[in-house]
Amino acid sequence: ATPVAIMVGTGVGAKNGILIKSGDALQSARDINTVVLDKTGTITEGKPKVTDVIVYEKGLNSDEIILIAAAIEKPSEHPLAEAIVNEALARGTLIPDVEDFQAVFGKGVMGVCEGKKCMAGNVGFMNENDITLSSEIQTAIEALSEDGKTPLLFAMDGKLSAVIAVADTVKASSMKAIRELHDMKIEVVMLTGDNKRTAQAVQKRLGINQVVAEVLPEDKEKEIRRLQREGKKVAMVGDGINDAPALAAADVGIAIGAGTDVAIDSADIILMKSRLTDAITAIRLSRAVIRNIK
Ligand code: ADP
Ligand code: MG
Repeated sequence: ATPVAIMVGTGVGAKNGILIKSGDALQSARDINTVVLDKTGTITEGKPKVTDVIVYEKGLNSDEIILIAAAIEKPSEHPLAEAIVNEALARGTLIPDVEDFQAVFGKGVMGVCEGKKCMAGNVGFMNENDITLSSEIQTAIEALSEDGKTPLLFAMDGKLSAVIAVADTVKASSMKAIRELHDMKIEVVMLTGDNKRTAQAVQKRLGINQVVAEVLPEDKEKEIRRLQREGKKVAMVGDGINDAPALAAADVGIAIGAGTDVAIDSADIILMKSRLTDAITAIRLSRAVIRNIK
């Protein structure tokens, strides 16, 4: 493209809250035939709320469970952690301190609270730490997931004490964006660290072509490269620290403006209004600009 066409293109983008960092990014956007979307914070609002607290520990009620869970989640920056902390605050409790806090990227958190060794995370995290899940608990986890909720497992002193379900609202603009991508014959892939059932429930609701769930942060990038090896021209849209390597690996990395600085730094295009529909506008803009100079 000519420098003038690129200037015009980036200018129109900026006016619409779409920051295109380079002329190369604008040109590459033209050929995109696959869009990979992160789930939490990209398709969904990224502000999950606690919906259910199922207690398995005798002598403890849900307020007490939320309180301790909030204590070990407080130092975490994950949206799930924020949901638990907000729930504790809404219940009007003072969150105790945690010692020996440790976050395991893409899995969960652990720490010592009131002398008890506590852990919160997904099924894999519990398995790795030898926490047994009874068939009753497994059934509860499945039911919550089928509902599109994310089950967060909470264990104390080596025993599973509660299942806390957290749910996130799908952005209205996401539904529209996914429909439009289909109309443009662009394949849509959802990539998430969340569990398979929850991811599939969201996939079904939105009519997404392909879903890759239970992806560890370091593996999101590998999925992008796999699609590229299949000959796809890939745009990745994400918001989190865990999306940064995938954003950098994609042909076009697109960050949600409300996302983390690391994601914004790794991307070629930033959606200031945090709407997926603007990713489509960027692709259309690229096609228009390139067409005009041919
Ligand atoms: P995503 O942003 O796609 O949900 P992540 O890699 O951030 O993916 O997280 C993957 C999964 O790891 C989450 O769905 C959750 O089950 C678990 N997890 C990560 N961080 C935490 C945390 N602070 N507390 C509880 N669970 C967590
Ligand atoms: Mg995310």
